Amino acid sequence: MTVSSMLRALVFLALCGSMKAHAASAFAVQQIAPGNYVHRGHDDVATPANGGDIANVGFIVGARCVAVIDTGGTLAEGRQLRAAIRAVTPLPVCYVINTHMHPDHIFGNGAFKDEHAQFVGSVKLPQAEAARGDNYLRALNRELGAAADGSEIVPPTLTVDGSASLDLGGRTLTLHTWKTAHTNNDITVYDEKSGTLWLGDLLFVGCIPVVDGSVVGWLDDIARIKQMNPRHVVPGHGPLDAPWPQSIEAEEQYLAELARDVRAAIKRGDTIQQAVNTVGVDQRDKWLLYDVYHRRNVTAAYAELEWEK
Ligand SMILES: [Zn+2]
Repeated sequence: MTVSSMLRALVFLALCGSMKAHAASAFAVQQIAPGNYVHRGHDDVATPANGGDIANVGFIVGARCVAVIDTGGTLAEGRQLRAAIRAVTPLPVCYVINTHMHPDHIFGNGAFKDEHAQFVGSVKLPQAEAARGDNYLRALNRELGAAADGSEIVPPTLTVDGSASLDLGGRTLTLHTWKTAHTNNDITVYDEKSGTLWLGDLLFVGCIPVVDGSVVGWLDDIARIKQMNPRHVVPGHGPLDAPWPQSIEAEEQYLAELARDVRAAIKRGDTIQQAVNTVGVDQRDKWLLYDVYHRRNVTAAYAELEWEK
């Protein structure tokens, strides 16, 4: 072997090594509690580079079957999640739970259509998807191009109003619907066996909370969630190892200040534009994606609180 051919071989080996590492980390899941596996989404908006893989999604394995909790932003991501499940267990998927209507949590559903699973969501999810689905799909195709191919809305076949229990065999999941908060169709999943609470987008860590429902309702929900004392929590966005309850307290503080400052602006007679320009400007360094969502949050809070008596 000449020096140059040796070098070429070394470069080739190094490339293979990095490609392998990349393939392995492309759709990683980690077991954050016994039987609870989470894939950590990118802390970003959907882009062609991240393929819409921006939410934390995952699954829980029982003795009889598997429950999926959110399926990701595209059919392709749903298929990756399904492959990750198959790498862990041959058990069938019996439930595909959507924590709420947003595109980054639902558009992988199609990957589980031939599993004979029940699709599970809030009693308010079907109507929300019917109202917004076409727009979501158009936006997805515009933002992601070919990466969105085949993605579709798969509405729930089993809806929850209040609470419900799902049996995975030796493992019971308790589902809860909540007051309108992040959206009007938020649902949480609690795995009693491991004390793991999957909060969907009722919890944002590091990434700015997005108000697409009610800031007042969200604050009420947070007060109740804090009493649940989970051993592990899974946020819809952000790191999986953030300290509890500090993580939800940071979100609570942001929302409480948003409500307080918007109420004060309304009381002063500020216009919505004036409120957008002044409220929460000191929060900018505290949250990822502040520039994308904060002004929308002020607008949403203003529209909600304007009618408060
Ligand atoms: Zn969401």
